[in-house]
Amino acid sequence: MSTAEPLGTDRDEMIQRLPKVETHVHLEGSVRPGTLLRIARRHGLDLGRLDEARITDLFRFRSFRHFTELYEQCCAALREPADLQLLAEELAEAAHRQNVRHLEVTFSPGTHWRGRGIPFDEQLDAVRRGAEQAWRRIGVSMRFVVDHVRGESVEECQQIAEWAVAGGPAGVVGLGLGGFEPGRPASLFAEPIRWAAARGVPFVPHAGEAVGPEGVWDCLTFHPPRIAHGIRAVEDPALMKVLRNRGVVLDVCLTSNLRTGVVSTPQAHPLRRLWEAGVRITLNTDDPSMFHTDLVAEHRLAARWHGFTVAELAGMTMTAVEAALLPDSARMRLREGVRADLDELGIVPTYPPGVTRSVAAAG
Ligand SMILES: [Zn+2]
Repeated sequence: MSTAEPLGTDRDEMIQRLPKVETHVHLEGSVRPGTLLRIARRHGLDLGRLDEARITDLFRFRSFRHFTELYEQCCAALREPADLQLLAEELAEAAHRQNVRHLEVTFSPGTHWRGRGIPFDEQLDAVRRGAEQAWRRIGVSMRFVVDHVRGESVEECQQIAEWAVAGGPAGVVGLGLGGFEPGRPASLFAEPIRWAAARGVPFVPHAGEAVGPEGVWDCLTFHPPRIAHGIRAVEDPALMKVLRNRGVVLDVCLTSNLRTGVVSTPQAHPLRRLWEAGVRITLNTDDPSMFHTDLVAEHRLAARWHGFTVAELAGMTMTAVEAALLPDSARMRLREGVRADLDELGIVPTYPPGVTRSVAAAG
């Protein structure tokens, strides 16, 4: 692609047309301000003088802590299973407009159970219905990761691990770990994580975001196929080597990292350094509404900030295809569809140094 690499608006157009796969996006963080307002009004919640513009404005974080607080407030407006189904359907529709073929969506069942008393099977039923609608109507496939919030107890984590295992037939493919990282390492939750892994549910934590390399090292004990963020691994060359050698994939979220202050400037983001070190990377939105982004925008930022070519971005899509937690038959279907689209666009994916597509997929 070196001589044919499109630039400017041509590149932006090509990025729009690229087939995409997203492996790290939160259902709750995808709620549009207008939808949040409608849901809250339907439930008779007093939002004071908040309107759509003011909610949008609220989503301008001052810190990681501020972000997690606002996130909790948004979750509090979600009161019934139908709200979750609506979010899943809207997320898939937005993905479809960006040529996203597959979504691995994280949601936090403990929050909806603890706060609003929505039983897990009703939550799962709702998101599964949303996923079925999306597949039938627009051909976007979805799977789910259930996330434990690190500030909550080990007992709750065990409950979520059990839900993750029970939810397999309805599309739950992983056990996540999110929330405020400092002081709450994955090893605190070793027992539930191992319990789920022994029953075939892999661990896909957040790490290396608000905490440095030690948070990523801690998670590696549990053999995660992918880590959300993980970007502070760049501070430790030995850790980058382990990530590369084990083929652990980092689900990187550029705008999220900038907005929560994990990096101070776009140029300071280690995306290119991770790539050059041979670490396998996917691009993701994390919480698209709250961060005012989408997957097309994240791809364009990677190109603008760090000079990623369309071929390299396509390599990240193929990495996401291989690293998505999917049964073989579904992965094969996804791979064939993405490959056909890339062929049609005349794009040959390229990979980080030392990585080839034939590297065994984690998970
Ligand atoms: Zn996340």
